[in-house]
Amino acid sequence: MTDTAPDTGPDPLLSVRDLSKNFGDFEALRKITLDVHHNEVLCLIGPSGSGKSTLLRCLNFLEPYDSGEVRLEGELIGWREGGAVPRRALAANALRRQRQGIGMVFQQFNLWPHMTALGNVTEALMQVKGLSRAKAAEKARAALQKVGLGDKAYNFPANLSGGQQQRVAIARAVAMEPRLMLFDEPTSALDPELVGEVLSAMKEMAAEGMTMVVVTHEMGFAAHVADRVAFLDGGRLVTVTRPAEIFGETPKDPRIQRFLQTYR
Ligand code: ADP
Ligand code: MG
Repeated sequence: MTDTAPDTGPDPLLSVRDLSKNFGDFEALRKITLDVHHNEVLCLIGPSGSGKSTLLRCLNFLEPYDSGEVRLEGELIGWREGGAVPRRALAANALRRQRQGIGMVFQQFNLWPHMTALGNVTEALMQVKGLSRAKAAEKARAALQKVGLGDKAYNFPANLSGGQQQRVAIARAVAMEPRLMLFDEPTSALDPELVGEVLSAMKEMAAEGMTMVVVTHEMGFAAHVADRVAFLDGGRLVTVTRPAEIFGETPKDPRIQRFLQTYR
């Protein structure tokens, strides 16, 4: 296993060193070492079960890791604890995550069904940032505008398409002004014709300089939007490199070749 990440900057936003995570005897992540630089889009690809979600969850306090280190702008983050996890710790971690400024978007949108699009974003801003309702609503409107949903502010989730719901979820995360955004297969639950609008919203965020780690099966997005692509296999980081090296004529590693064949 090698970390072949080309150095694209001196002080990474996120640095992961020798991160390992076991589920019982099963090694889900094996000594992952990876930097994510400011304003970078890093796409994380790999076969199902290779550990992509587990890695994001370790970065985001959702899963304790066994050894190694995760730093955000040099500050130790994440959750390294053995044993059972009391419910209280999970709540505390949710708070820490928000304070650290990491936003996350999942495959499932997890919107509050009884609130409008605007309500979903506003409520989150009030709860997490402690803003007044008026101030939160103002920021929420701007966030919805950014993802192209300015005219859907008063729709409830049931009256939005999957793509629109996911864009509300993105607006909700981005409205918090995170330092880092994590996406775990944000378009995998969508009908094919709705994938494009969500990827466009993400692409726009990237263009505005948001630092993003994106787990995706959208190879077009990885090839064209990512600054670097990381390939994970069996809990190991096989390579981190420029997209052209992965998607070019001859990806060097046979594991990558095999993986890509399922998308061609
Ligand atoms: P990916 O997102 O790349 O598909 P995951 O990170 O979800 O992979 O899972 C990596 C491996 O870890 C899989 O073999 C999965 O079955 C296992 N795994 C994930 N979460 C748990 C868990 N909570 N308990 C036991 N095994 C798990
Ligand atoms: Mg996954």
